[in-house]
Amino acid sequence: MKDAVFIYSEEQLGYSFSDTHPFNQKRIVLTLDLLKKSGAISDEDIVMPRSATDEELILAHDPKFIDIVKKAGKGLISEEVGSVYGIGTEDTPIFPNMHEASAMLVGGTLTAVDEVMEGRAKYALNLGGGLHHGFQGKASGFCVYNDSSVAIKYIQKKYDARVLYIDTDAHHGDGVQWTFYDDPNVCTLSIHETGRYLFPGTGAINERGNGDGYGTSFNFPIDAFTEDESFLEIYKTAIEEVAAYFKPDVILTQNGADAHFFDPLTHLYGTMKIYEQIPRMARDIAERYCEGRWIAVGGGGYDIWRVVPRAWAHIWLAMKQFPAPVGKLPEQWLTAWQDDSPVPFIETWEDPNPLYEPIPRKAEITEKNAQMLERALHIVRSQQ
Ligand SMILES: [Zn+2]
Repeated sequence: MKDAVFIYSEEQLGYSFSDTHPFNQKRIVLTLDLLKKSGAISDEDIVMPRSATDEELILAHDPKFIDIVKKAGKGLISEEVGSVYGIGTEDTPIFPNMHEASAMLVGGTLTAVDEVMEGRAKYALNLGGGLHHGFQGKASGFCVYNDSSVAIKYIQKKYDARVLYIDTDAHHGDGVQWTFYDDPNVCTLSIHETGRYLFPGTGAINERGNGDGYGTSFNFPIDAFTEDESFLEIYKTAIEEVAAYFKPDVILTQNGADAHFFDPLTHLYGTMKIYEQIPRMARDIAERYCEGRWIAVGGGGYDIWRVVPRAWAHIWLAMKQFPAPVGKLPEQWLTAWQDDSPVPFIETWEDPNPLYEPIPRKAEITEKNAQMLERALHIVRSQQ
């Protein structure tokens, strides 16, 4: 068995709304190249994704919605019809072959699932996935099909396993949460900037699941301007206690990299320290509860030059159990891409310290997050 596989083909880059849209899959190319030039990945580590079939997409999406996406990608629907299904909007514009490109990203996550569940690899990474805002019958927030929702349904059907979904994107993992809101065999856990000022506005503590699924939906909404220490405290405590309570067979992590201080769309103050720790702690949980079974996908991340390649490289490095690198990034990588970047690169694996001016409200924010954590874990702690 391999320790880890990296799911990738150039076909994943076809998921592109426009040259100016913030969601830009060039991030994957930059990440893979950084890993190659660091000597951390070889061609044998890379597995080609397949496309998801309609039968698979239907596990988590309405046939009518799939039909509309297919037609939209061929220019066959009106703006009015598109807007009913969340496409052709400012966030999620229509682009040629939208269905094929979206199905390819879902297929990448299904490929990752099969690699892990059939025992060919302990861990699998599909950075093309992580489209956590996709709903059953509607696209939303840059996401058409929800690869994680389809993948979890696929895991249930094919492998009959209990899945813990952990989402550290700065936005609430709403699409996945609502898909499994009634399901006691899937636990969703999302840490995100509070929805008070940020899309999609949901992800409150009291969204705990429904019916039989009550107590298997966990939300950890953190305050704007939250920094590394508080973020990691919430993350570590949350995943440890929820994993011990739920006892998953497999873990699926969504690794949006938009909680960084540089990210243009959110208001969190994370640095590369959180991106070094997030995957290492997830791997520990997978080892402790799931005999290692861990599938990781990408997600948000809109500073594609300074943040995402380093942050996502850390997921692969954690999977390979390489120590977290320090110091200068490979010179060859910097020279290959610096001219394309509109901003000067951070030239080291770590961020400069300090990265920003001290925040006067730090103590208050930390305290607020700690109180939130206590309330969010109420069900878990009351059962101990
Ligand atoms: Zn996000």
